[in-house]
Amino acid sequence: MKQSQLFTKTRKEAPRDEVSKNAQLLIRAGFVHKEMAGVYSFLPLGLRVLDKINSIIRKEMNAIGGQEIFMTALQDKNIWEKTSRWSDDVIDNWFKTSLKNGTELGLGFTHEEPITRIMTNYISSYKDLPFSAYQIQTKFRNEARAKSGIMRGREFMMKDLYSFSRDEKEHDEFYQKAGEAYMKIFNTVGVGDKTFKTFASGGSFSKYSHEFQTISDAGEDKIYICEKCSIAVNEEIIKEQNKCPECGNSKLKEGKSIEVGNIFSLGTRFSEALGLTYNDEKGEKQFVIMGCYGIGPGRVMGTIVETLSDEKGIVWPESVAPFQVHLLSLNEDKEAEKVYNELEKAGIEVLFDDRDTRPGEKFADSDLIGIPWRVVVSKKSLENGGVEVKRRDGDDGEVMSIKELIKKIINN
Ligand code: ATP
Ligand code: MG
Repeated sequence: MKQSQLFTKTRKEAPRDEVSKNAQLLIRAGFVHKEMAGVYSFLPLGLRVLDKINSIIRKEMNAIGGQEIFMTALQDKNIWEKTSRWSDDVIDNWFKTSLKNGTELGLGFTHEEPITRIMTNYISSYKDLPFSAYQIQTKFRNEARAKSGIMRGREFMMKDLYSFSRDEKEHDEFYQKAGEAYMKIFNTVGVGDKTFKTFASGGSFSKYSHEFQTISDAGEDKIYICEKCSIAVNEEIIKEQNKCPECGNSKLKEGKSIEVGNIFSLGTRFSEALGLTYNDEKGEKQFVIMGCYGIGPGRVMGTIVETLSDEKGIVWPESVAPFQVHLLSLNEDKEAEKVYNELEKAGIEVLFDDRDTRPGEKFADSDLIGIPWRVVVSKKSLENGGVEVKRRDGDDGEVMSIKELIKKIINN
């Protein structure tokens, strides 16, 4: 894409009321627009990143057998009353609305109730189980404090997967697989080395649930890491047992962290309330065992910005970058256009800075936007036999031919 055609522009300042680093950088670089606190629109660059994160999540959810669906934001009060989650005294973050005839509706903050009801239409026998279904969909939560940029939205995207099993053993096997899929996702998006599977309280159905927590000063949570096992426990658990649940180590390292995902055993809480049963081999009625598994793609995107940016701007990992190459023409538009065409022909995603602006501004914008490969076409690079290539996370540039560049990017 030619940058002269991109409608967004970079800006020197973020809105004064924006205190989080992720939103400041994302707004300045033109990835998102702040509508109001906790409510952000995704612009072309931002949507490209979000789509890539979603594709990575989708691939891993499909790999464990998840079937993609898309449920409604508008929620039927009746089913939420059956699980005692309609009341504002129980759920403090509902956004509610009503029909013209006065019927009350909610805007979904999660989807256990509707998916359980949907499945009553499809599950009747033990032969129908096990399976899982997921969606990537907008949630609404009236969060009390929305100061963490896109990491804590009042309207935000969530990947939520729900599993349906016959018994505890079948559930536990899937739960384990889902946890492994989560680690793969966090590794692929570039925060795996800072992300810990964290023991959290399990509700009434299992001893523990698990959060995936990424170490960051911007985090709203605190975890206690066992460096031997590379796992952690959260604040609730540390009060109950001041040691690693896996090896008993009591020298745990405290750190601030961001919850990028979590997995939870629901047992029969929802299947009992909403009548989701199956007939077992003996023809006896049993309640379906459920689990839920959440990731916030926007929160993941914010976490990447928080943990990988530097004083010049964002540093995107290749897997989620809006483009692979940022091509800068320094008054060599004709030659740069050739490079642009060659790279595109090789299937490489390029943002081509063909704007009529000062080189200094192009370099500063490139650092702010954070695309992994910066490729400069200048009089000097051409004299030296090619283009100057520098990685956003590396120090020095290197001159090479276009052929060499393509090889380098493809082999990377
Ligand atoms: P938190 O304790 O941070 O409020 P939560 O326990 O309410 O999170 P869940 O309801 O389990 O979170 O949601 C699943 C995932 O959705 C979280 O792990 C997180 O990645 C994401 N998420 C939750 N709330 C928000 C939000 N307000 N904005 C963006 N992402 C969110
Ligand atoms: Mg919450």
